[in-house]
Formats: sequence, structure tokens, C-alpha cells
Amino acid sequence: MDIPGILHADLDAFYAAVAVKEDPALVGKPVAVGGGVVLSCTYEARAYGVRGGMPLREARGLCPNLIVVDGTFGAYVDYSKAVFEIFESFTPLVERLSIDEAFMDVTGSVHLFGSPATIAREIRSRVRESTGLAVSIGATTRKFLSKIASQVAKPDGLIVVEPGDESDFLRPLGVGYLWGVGPVTKRRLGELGIETIGDIADTPLDSLAASLGAGHARHLHALANLKDARRVETSRRAKSLSAQSAMRGKIRTLSELTPVLYRLTDRVASRLRAKEMNGRTVTIKVRFGDLTSITRSLTIPTPTNSTSTLVGVGTQLLAGVVEEFPRHETTLLSVAVSGLGAKDATQLALDVDAVAGSPRSLELEALDESVDELREKFGDKVITHGSDLMSGRTSFSDGLSEIMTPGEPDNDD
Ligand SMILES: [Mg+2]
Repeated sequence: MDIPGILHADLDAFYAAVAVKEDPALVGKPVAVGGGVVLSCTYEARAYGVRGGMPLREARGLCPNLIVVDGTFGAYVDYSKAVFEIFESFTPLVERLSIDEAFMDVTGSVHLFGSPATIAREIRSRVRESTGLAVSIGATTRKFLSKIASQVAKPDGLIVVEPGDESDFLRPLGVGYLWGVGPVTKRRLGELGIETIGDIADTPLDSLAASLGAGHARHLHALANLKDARRVETSRRAKSLSAQSAMRGKIRTLSELTPVLYRLTDRVASRLRAKEMNGRTVTIKVRFGDLTSITRSLTIPTPTNSTSTLVGVGTQLLAGVVEEFPRHETTLLSVAVSGLGAKDATQLALDVDAVAGSPRSLELEALDESVDELREKFGDKVITHGSDLMSGRTSFSDGLSEIMTPGEPDNDD
């Protein structure tokens, strides 16, 4: 590709920025959005060292006059919609990564709107005009590189890396900019004397693999050497539904996590049913107290929107994580269902085939339906499913769960 036609756009401190737009009294103040942990915070709060994913207690210690805003209000979705409409007015190739983040391929749009740099500048000013929010953009020839460029560009910046300049841009950057390098990997790389992405590129794959494992090493080595041929996938294909919950307190065991998993999965499943859609892939993401996080997913052969089936898959994944990371305190759990499709007649038949009319499955399907009906009539709060035992400990997830992507805390900007 001879133009930097892949854009990565990421709104700056999205949740906090929206909170400030909604309440002008907060302008210029250190503001954090969140419940048990900071979901997002303003740059004024960042100046005190407050960061996304940090427990609120710790954030208040760093910044005693921190203003904490509950994350439940629904305005986020409206802002996100307005921003994505602007993205989509420049190219149909928009891949939504989260509520405030997307890849765009503008290669085919340059004859209409000008160079990628021109398009990126135009997007930034239109987002600013119509929502008042700042969006940082990276424009390069490769997805991972554009994502890094937008991070480097923050706050409120634009970085364009022309073809041929990629290596000069990438090599001096710290390893933490690479996708897949968290605190643990960073420490292991540090032990090998590897500080920059250029160092990774120059290290023989075998040495990396000995320390990081073969798969992870291959992944990082490829990126460091600019090998990333992934294309921008449109939202339609990438679409998923998710719900997440931040947690207070010391939650470590499967039995403590299961009710939360149940509640989140049920919310997703019930929205799938409302949309008459099915999904095949369940992804759970667990964030631990030390801010590392782990994602696990599983794809089942038959698409479904049944709460119990999806909970079964999620429990299997969660049990694996708890076994792998015993005694780790969990601060955030998210459940996403992807591989979505309309629940059409063929799939219906498949469902019935798969369960062979099993009375248990039919019964569960009927239960799902009656729960949905009650919700419709009386609102969400009426149904507790006996799983809200955790409600005192979970917080602010509900307002964020109407997001059509795997939702994630806004902790990378
Ligand atoms: Mg962001």
C-alpha cells in the first residue's frame, strides 16, 4: 500500500469527556468516571497520577479533590453514535473496536476527500464541532501501527506515518506500545535487556520464545518487524454484544464470580433475543487487581441466544481462568457474544436438531421467554434471577452494557 490509508481513531478519555460535556460545572476539574475502579478520568485527574483501572480508593489518595461521577448515565451511546456517523461518512470500511475506538480504511476514499492526512484532519474537526470531544488519530499502512500512532498522538493529536517511514517511527518506542505487552511481559522483556520495539525486532525469535512462550513471541516479533497484513473488517462482521461489571471487594473464587457471569450473560442473551439474533462465540475478559487482564473465548457449533447455554460456555472459560490464576483478585469481568447472525428458520431448525427437542432445553427456552416478557412489562429491575447477590459489589456496568462491541475500560489514553 503506498498511502497511509488505515486510520485508527480513539476518543480521548471518552467516558470522562462525556461526563464533562454533560455537566459544564466539571470543566477543568479532575474528574473520574467509575464505581469500584476508575473507568476513565480527565487529563486534569491524570496530572495527579490517576489512571483507568485504578481502584477509586487509590485514586482519591492521589487526588483528594477528585470528583467521581457514576457511570450509569446513557449519554455515552448517543455521543458514540454521532462520532461513528462521522467516521462512516468518509468510508464504509469502519471496524468498531469499542464504544470510542475504530479502524477505518480510507484507501478508496482519497479521490473523494483527499489524502488520508486530510481525511483524518477533517474527521477530527467534525467530531470536535458536532460533539465537543477530542479524537486522536493515527494514519499508517498497517493496523497495529495506526493504533500505536493514535496512542502516541494523544491527547488531541494526529500522527501520519508515510510509507517507508514506519521503521523509524516504530523502533524507538517502548515495548509497552505493542498490542499484547502488559506489565508481566514488559518485565520479562526488561530482564532480557529489551526496552524498545526495535530491540524486539533485533532479538532472535528463539530467545524471545524461551522467555515468553512460542505463540506470544511470534506475535510480538512479527509486529516489531512490521508484519501485520490484517485488513479492516467492517462493523457488520465484527459486531458483538457485551456487558461488563467492575467489582469492589476481594473477589477471587469461581463461586463468587459465577453470579456476576450469570447476570452479565443474561443481559447479553436477552438483548440477542430482543433483536432476534444468535451468537456463536463467547468471550470473557477478566481484569485483575494488578491491572493485567486476560481474555478467553470459545466458539460453539450451533448459534444460540439461550441464557443457560451461553452461561455454560462462559462458566467453562471462567473456570479455566480461575484455575490458571488462583488467588487473583478480580476487578472487572466482561462477557461478549460475537459471531452474530439473524435467528432465521434454518437456525431454528438447527437448534431443535441439536437438542433433539430435549425437554430441559425447551423448558429453559420458555423460561428465557417469560423472563423477557416480564422485563418488557416491568423493566429490568424486576428480574433478579437470584443472581443479584452480588449487586452490592458490582457497579455502574448497566449503563455501559448497551454497547454493540466488546466494551472495555478507557484506560489506554
Ligand atoms: Mg479512548
